[in-house]
Amino acid sequence: MIHRAIPANERQIEPRLAERFHKTLQQHAPPADLPFTEELAMALVSDALNWKASDLHVEPGAVDTRVRMRVDGLLHDVAVIPTVSGRHIVTYFKVLAQMDTSALARAEHGHARMDAGGMQLDLRITVVPTPNGEMLGIRLLDGLRAVLRLDEIGMSGPEQSHLRNWLAEIQGMLLVCGPVGSGKTSTLYALLRELQRQPCGIVTLEDPVESLMDGITQIEVNEKRGLTFSDAIRAMLRLDPDFLLLGEIRDPESAHTAITAAGSGQALLSTLHARDSVGAVTALRNYGVKNWEISAALEVSVAQRLLRRLCSRCRVETEITSAQRESFTTHGISAPARLWKPAGCDVCAGTGFDGRIGVFEVWRLDTEARTLIVHGADEPALRKHATATGSRTLLADALEKTAAGLTTFAELRRLGRQAQPADSAV
Ligand SMILES: [Zn+2]
Repeated sequence: MIHRAIPANERQIEPRLAERFHKTLQQHAPPADLPFTEELAMALVSDALNWKASDLHVEPGAVDTRVRMRVDGLLHDVAVIPTVSGRHIVTYFKVLAQMDTSALARAEHGHARMDAGGMQLDLRITVVPTPNGEMLGIRLLDGLRAVLRLDEIGMSGPEQSHLRNWLAEIQGMLLVCGPVGSGKTSTLYALLRELQRQPCGIVTLEDPVESLMDGITQIEVNEKRGLTFSDAIRAMLRLDPDFLLLGEIRDPESAHTAITAAGSGQALLSTLHARDSVGAVTALRNYGVKNWEISAALEVSVAQRLLRRLCSRCRVETEITSAQRESFTTHGISAPARLWKPAGCDVCAGTGFDGRIGVFEVWRLDTEARTLIVHGADEPALRKHATATGSRTLLADALEKTAAGLTTFAELRRLGRQAQPADSAV
């Protein structure tokens, strides 16, 4: 046999995922003398889709190659394949994405389309050189992926109102902050969906376009075909829309574009790598934006993370410890009588979790916040003001969702470096 699933006793592996994957590989095991790379590649992608994986990794090691899939934000090791099969798969996807097939000395990115079971898929492909050979990462984007409504992303009613009020005013800048994979893009699309019903011009500049939306002009950066980020920005500004969506503020150029657009009567939505809502101010300062410019342009800063949502079909009650109880009360949330923990059933493939839920922190800037920014106030000062004016932290929102049985106490660890409760064991 040429493949083996990783034994379930090596941790990190969801046994049922490994078992199902093992079966797939067996079905696709080829007669010894036939090339089968394409079949195996298709099987990997279609399985990734079945499990609703967002990413598929093929990672060469010293001895063999590991296949991993990201499901609900966690990477699961699902199989080990021979190094030579791994190499063929990497080459297959490089050809599909029209990338240079010689061994690369640096990371390369590409796009490919694939027909999987009648469904057109957009694949975002990254190949990175490692000491053991090339590592392949595939981000799976379903071009017809449903765009969630604002009331479906997990945001509380009052926070949704802050965003809707901003949309109605058509001015300044709304930023969604968080690390990669924190659901920022879904939030922007949910906001665009609100705007679709209104008679206003909307243009987006994305890299790449992740969901297609009717009635909205979507521009995709494509450096290979000659549409650079700078060209695309100029094209976008010429269209003079009411709302501009810039996929990401990632350098001084995009930061200044955003500030300029927001200062010239257009409303701008974008995402930013920042730890929390007030961290957006620091990030913009680091890109060379002046305090007075930030103060004039920034209207709303949203921070968000995704936590795994407990499978409601199999979750089980668990006792709440006194330390956990204290975490709730410290944050002004009444502690629940009990908490919930994952079990595992057929519906959730034994993981105990079913999809993810957003946790949010929404900071609507007022006059005093603007004054603080102009005077160069640091993050702790801005944080203090935001909290005093009713902005709830990511942790507080996450604790409310934990109390409601939507997620677990252990998931709070995913909030990153933000202040966390002392006892975050299940
Ligand atoms: Zn379940």
